[in-house]
Amino acid sequence: MRTITHIGIIGAGTMGAALTQKFAQEGLTVFMVDREDRFLDRGMENIRVVLQEGVERRIFTEEQMQQIVDRIHPTIDMNELAQCQIIIEAVFEDKKVKEDLFSQISEIVPSDTILATNTSSFSVTELAESVNHPQRFLGLHFFYHAAKNRLVEVVEGETTSDAIFNECMWFMQRCGKDPIFCKDSHGFVVNRFFVPWLNEAVHLYEEGIAEPAAIDAIARKAFGCGMGPFALMNATGVPIAFHAQRTLEDAFGKFYHPAETLKLQTEKNEEWSISGSEEVEPSVAKQITDRLQAVTIFVCGQLLDEKVCTAGDISRGAGIGLKWRKGPVDCYHKLGEAKVNDLIRDLAKEWKLEVPGAMASEHWRPDFVNTEINVHTGVITINRPEGMNAMNPTVVSQLADAFDRLDGDASLKNIVITARGKAFVAGADINFFIDHIKANTISEIVDFTTDGQKLFTRIDESDKKIIVMVNGFALGGGLELALTADVIVALNKAIFAFPETGIGIYPGLGGTQRPINRIGKGLTKYLVYTGQILSAQKAAEIGLIDKVVTWDEMVSLIANPDLLEKNSVTLSEKWQKLSDYFDNTTVEALFNMDEIPEGMEKIIGKIRTKAPVAMKIVETLINENLGPESELDHLETIFNTVDALAGLQSVGKKPPEYKGR
Ligand code: NAD
Repeated sequence: MRTITHIGIIGAGTMGAALTQKFAQEGLTVFMVDREDRFLDRGMENIRVVLQEGVERRIFTEEQMQQIVDRIHPTIDMNELAQCQIIIEAVFEDKKVKEDLFSQISEIVPSDTILATNTSSFSVTELAESVNHPQRFLGLHFFYHAAKNRLVEVVEGETTSDAIFNECMWFMQRCGKDPIFCKDSHGFVVNRFFVPWLNEAVHLYEEGIAEPAAIDAIARKAFGCGMGPFALMNATGVPIAFHAQRTLEDAFGKFYHPAETLKLQTEKNEEWSISGSEEVEPSVAKQITDRLQAVTIFVCGQLLDEKVCTAGDISRGAGIGLKWRKGPVDCYHKLGEAKVNDLIRDLAKEWKLEVPGAMASEHWRPDFVNTEINVHTGVITINRPEGMNAMNPTVVSQLADAFDRLDGDASLKNIVITARGKAFVAGADINFFIDHIKANTISEIVDFTTDGQKLFTRIDESDKKIIVMVNGFALGGGLELALTADVIVALNKAIFAFPETGIGIYPGLGGTQRPINRIGKGLTKYLVYTGQILSAQKAAEIGLIDKVVTWDEMVSLIANPDLLEKNSVTLSEKWQKLSDYFDNTTVEALFNMDEIPEGMEKIIGKIRTKAPVAMKIVETLINENLGPESELDHLETIFNTVDALAGLQSVGKKPPEYKGR
């Protein structure tokens, strides 16, 4: 796979400028092309405004902002694109303009330059006909604001080669994007269900069922989103929703016909009035929820039938692209197969349509774990970026299936475990714990942890060489998973921590035991007691991980993991002192000592905010060092404390004052 350093963006409008900014932020040299200097100037001005906001919010320094701007080369000369390895077109949504442009570019650039379109509504396969070597052509459909929204639909046209498609999937991740697979189909994945959701909201209004404000409020609750359909249409433009729905009707027929009131509102060029009352009778709220869910689930059933994407892609698309906490896949599972099928049958009858074939629950299981085989290496990728790859029973069971399959494959020597998105694994799914504590079903938590333990032990004891490539946050269960590996490699932006004692519980998947082999008991206590966040550099300095790498090094190591070996380190004086201190100081003393040694005030202050019961348990576990399974013995105790519920519920908020029970 080549290292992409130069990228061309054609069009300096809303999408082109934001993409230019994003790729320059990621360290690439960007040639931004438009028809006239004034459009380039406007694009550069928009980029500067967004970057300046970033400086004000301390995301960048002034110096970094300048470096980003310096990487951008605005130009009206298409020939400059010859030095780029990939070109993304983001010009007007006009097929002829795009076709002319692509035939011109494909004459200018080398035959292996990747050519991509950001079109929202044209066929990628048809646009590919304008270029020579169409196997290098694909769709990269980004979402507004393209410098901030991580979702990208990677669209495979009929001529796109597998190699180019895979290269772009990796390249998008390297650039901080969360790519989803998508076959060339009108509306791709997200717009196909999102636009009909807007349209159904208008139907509900025109049928007099409720006012826009009430429909918005009910939609926000049902889909866990920040804005309802009417507020969203006001923000992005009512005509855009109308035109998008009309083009869906052209492609897929009457079911997608735009609501009459949407057409009228577009003609009047007016926004919706959303200032009314949000109150409605419960039966009306239920009717609105059912109808919005039925339409989105129906459309997603069609997407699955047509094999445009998987249920996982729908889940990632809704979670990342639209920021819906409850996307169509979650709605499906919450309603259950029987109720979903009742709703869908009614809808199909009303519209005289076939019920999609993929309505059974087996089609709606999201694929959170992907595998591929690379000669002697099996690669497992955890792919639930919309939930920060947090571990819940589905992820653990899919991870177990993937691992057991690859571990049983005699042709493989190595297994690499990595993940997609910002996080490697951001711990266990906190809501799973909270729900079971509240429902008094702590045994479910014990079963889940026991299954996780068994899997981690199988990984740890595998005869194959296990390499974990940490791409982002490895917190709690994520760090525990990493510690099952023979070799741990991390990107320089990765971070590591055991936050559990700060949220009322303790690490239960080997976190009190496996680090001892790497960093000894003293530093294990330091990490588990304090929840201190370590950068990848610091983690390597103490030997918690083996190597820090760049993205390109990581990709080439996935292809050649034989080159990786475990690293051994000698602790610096500072770390050795800390290790000795924790080796020789009890939790009792840490909580109660009156005279705190000089230099330890901050650390001990932090420890005293942690949950006392959890702290006592981890001290015992680390001192006894009886192996990971010993952690299972205290689960009932810890999850029955009031501190566990208070701590878990405080995630993302101010930590509670723990009661010690
Ligand atoms: P825009 O109107 O803001 O910008 C288009 C830019 O392309 C303009 O600056 C224009 O001068 C330039 N341009 C037109 N013809 C050109 C040519 N021949 N050579 C060079 N530059 C040319 O449009 P936009 O909203 O950025 O949309 C661009 C593309 O992205 C469209 O295909 C659209 O469907 C797609 N898209 C838009 C969004 C969105 O939210 N705006 C989201 C996803 C995809």
